[in-house]
Amino acid sequence: MKKHAKKSPIQDPVCGKRINRNKAHIVVEYKGQDFLLCCPLCQAEFEKNPEKYLR
Ligand SMILES: [Zn+2]
Repeated sequence: MKKHAKKSPIQDPVCGKRINRNKAHIVVEYKGQDFLLCCPLCQAEFEKNPEKYLR
């Protein structure tokens, strides 16, 4: 049996909180990556400077 590639933990990049994708405030796609934000505050923070949160 093949091993699946490990998925990176789903985390709010702004506050670092782990969140469930379907419980996230919003999922923002930026440069082909999905970012889960837990609340409007984190979303605002992310949108101010999305580059900062790119891996
Ligand atoms: Zn957050």
